[in-house]
Amino acid sequence: MGHMVELKVVRGDITRQDVDAVVNAANNRMRGGGGVDGAIHRAGGPEVLADCIRRFPDGLATGDAGWTTAGSMPARWVIHTVGPNYSAGERDRSLLTSCYRRSLEVADELGARTVAFPLISAGIYGWPKEDAIAAAVETIAAADTTVQEARLVAFDQATFELIRSAVGQAQ
Ligand code: ADP
Repeated sequence: MGHMVELKVVRGDITRQDVDAVVNAANNRMRGGGGVDGAIHRAGGPEVLADCIRRFPDGLATGDAGWTTAGSMPARWVIHTVGPNYSAGERDRSLLTSCYRRSLEVADELGARTVAFPLISAGIYGWPKEDAIAAAVETIAAADTTVQEARLVAFDQATFELIRSAVGQAQ
């Protein structure tokens, strides 16, 4: 493949992004949760949970990714990935970079060309924000994928500024 992904940074709500797929920072159970997971299930409606139950009866491993419908969101698919829970002592960085790599692999399988990512593990799971940003930016930039645009979605202005400066340094 050998494509270069265009990395965009936006501030906003990931559930409202007009992209082919939105990535969810899910948990191992895959039955919904707080943070961006809760927002995605609310915005997508009950079809998202129904599809999670059907497709992930045993949940999903940390670092892995898989897809469901996006229900009533503008996106067509949700790519669920489970970041390491730093607060609970899961501090293997390769599990965090795996989330981005596996999500892009699933996007390739789906034929998704535009994908929006939240900052995985950087909320409830407590991964230090600057390193969570570095992991996201370096892994997306190095990926061999047919995805054309990866959009990193920051929920707040401070995170948006931090991501923008990290992307600026990487380019
Ligand atoms: P995790 O459990 O992996 O830490 P969280 O959902 O708690 O996941 O947080 C991941 C990131 O997503 C945080 O930076 C948080 O501020 C952000 N976030 C929460 N809700 C939304 C949303 N609706 N759109 C985009 N980002 C969001």
